[in-house]
This record gives sequence, C-alpha cells and structure tokens, in this order.
Amino acid sequence: MAGRADPVWEHGEKIGSGWKCKYCREPKAGGGATRLKEHLAHRGNDVKDCPSVPKEVKAFFARELDKIKERKRERERQRHRSTAAARTQYVDLEMRTMILNYKLPSINQGRSMSSEKELVHDTRVVVALDRAKRDRSLGC
Ligand SMILES: [Zn+2]
Repeated sequence: MAGRADPVWEHGEKIGSGWKCKYCREPKAGGGATRLKEHLAHRGNDVKDCPSVPKEVKAFFARELDKIKERKRERERQRHRSTAAARTQYVDLEMRTMILNYKLPSINQGRSMSSEKELVHDTRVVVALDRAKRDRSLGC
C-alpha cells in the first residue's frame, strides 16, 4: 500500500493511523494516503473537502485518483481476459477428448459460426478427425 514514498505526504503529515493536512491543518483520526488525496482533490465520500488546498495541488491529486481508478479497471479487464483464455483452453481440451473417444457429434449442425475462434476450433477438429480416420483405416 502507500508507503513513505507517496508524494501525498508532502501535503500532509502522518499522525498515528491518520494524518493532518498541511493546508487546512485539519486532522483526520483514521485514513491513509488515499483519504488525504481525496481530501485534497475534493473527491471523498468519507472525508471533508480541503478548504485551503492550492488549485494545482487539487488538480494533481484529482488526476492521481483517476489514474488509480484506471489501473483498477485495467486489472478487472485483465482478469476477465484470463478467465476467457482459460475457458478457451478448456473447450480445446474437451474437443480433443471427444476426438480421442471417436464420439464427436456433428458440431456444425444447427450452430452458426459466431466467431473466428469457433471457426479455428472447428477446422482443427476436422483436421484431427481426418487424421484419426486415416489412422484407423491403416489399422493403427
Ligand atoms: Zn486540507
């Protein structure tokens, strides 16, 4: 979390589990760097807006808070992506298992090619099936 290096501590003093704002001298009993940023940027739900913050400091921490929000959103997106990737891999594995067991249903029936990925899957299955048939006719 926020350590000593956070630039917000140039604008306030850490006191116990809270801080004291350098501009309005308002102490807050409990709250970390983010609370102080919200106080300076006038963005807090749970902290008062700073009445004495210089305009450029207010703008700076408003941008900081936006960046934090953006990073959080990016993390969310990445999590969704890796979940989707895991699912694709799982489907791939399932297809391979079906091929191995020669129990592949007619996968194209009643299904529209909704995505390129599906097309890739299907092509791969067809190729693998062909190979499986050939192997079988050769008596392997
Ligand atoms: Zn203040």
